[in-house]
Amino acid sequence: MAGFETNPTANLREVITPYRQRTLTRTIHMEGKGLHGGDPVGVSLGPAQAGTGITFFYDGLSVPAHAAFLAPALRSTSLQRDGKTIETVEHLLSACWIRKVDNLVVQVEGGELPAGDGSLGVWLHALSDERIGELHAFRKVVFVARSLWVGEGGRYVFAFPAPSFSVHYLLDFFPAPRVEYFGMDESDDYAELGRARTFAFQREIEGILSGGFGQGVRESAIIFGEDGRALSHLRMEGEGCAHKILDLVGDLMLVGKRLVGQFVAIRSGHELNHLLVKKLIGYDDYNQSEGRITGEY
Ligand SMILES: [Zn+2]
Repeated sequence: MAGFETNPTANLREVITPYRQRTLTRTIHMEGKGLHGGDPVGVSLGPAQAGTGITFFYDGLSVPAHAAFLAPALRSTSLQRDGKTIETVEHLLSACWIRKVDNLVVQVEGGELPAGDGSLGVWLHALSDERIGELHAFRKVVFVARSLWVGEGGRYVFAFPAPSFSVHYLLDFFPAPRVEYFGMDESDDYAELGRARTFAFQREIEGILSGGFGQGVRESAIIFGEDGRALSHLRMEGEGCAHKILDLVGDLMLVGKRLVGQFVAIRSGHELNHLLVKKLIGYDDYNQSEGRITGEY
């Protein structure tokens, strides 16, 4: 299924840039624990041809990194095809965005990607600049052409047309009177943000672990207490909010190409991020069950 194309919609406008597409120059193998399952898993990242995008290969199937293959969001972003699921792809996709990797072959062993320490660290290391080369084709990007939003109940994600990429996120620790806010423009250092780890609230921990989630990051994830303060040492101010931005950036890659626009998120998670992506590409499933929480200006 190489070369999977997005359906052009009135919400998006495709533009050819003067920049060359990028991919890895050689294959890298990585091993670790799955973020949620905690089982040993392996993955190989390798060069891909221009125009093929990021494609996962698992158990004889090829699964493009595209919203058409999204599995229901359960605290992560997973892709599925023919009853088989590749779990927790968002941190790799986010690292691809940061490193400007357009095309990549991802051979998955074990159905889930390695977690590392719950940040983008392992992926940013694997996709370091000296391992990436340019291809003989210009990069296509898609601009947000129309303002859209999804959300309800104090959780929202907005997409606005803009000449460059920016993302703003507000994390509200309700009921604690504390918020974290991050705003990033195109020129900001997203790789620095990549150190931010995944997190959970103390009140959720028992349910998360007993539900089979978070096993691979139980020692490294940030835990926030009831008062909104971190119970573990933080790597940066606003680390929880920074990680939410990384998750959103990774989820936006599921449009199939790099997006250009202004994104504003308030307490959003993967579920809302996925709805926004589906709405942007005009994927018609989104309005059958949850259309009431989407809108446009
Ligand atoms: Zn994450």
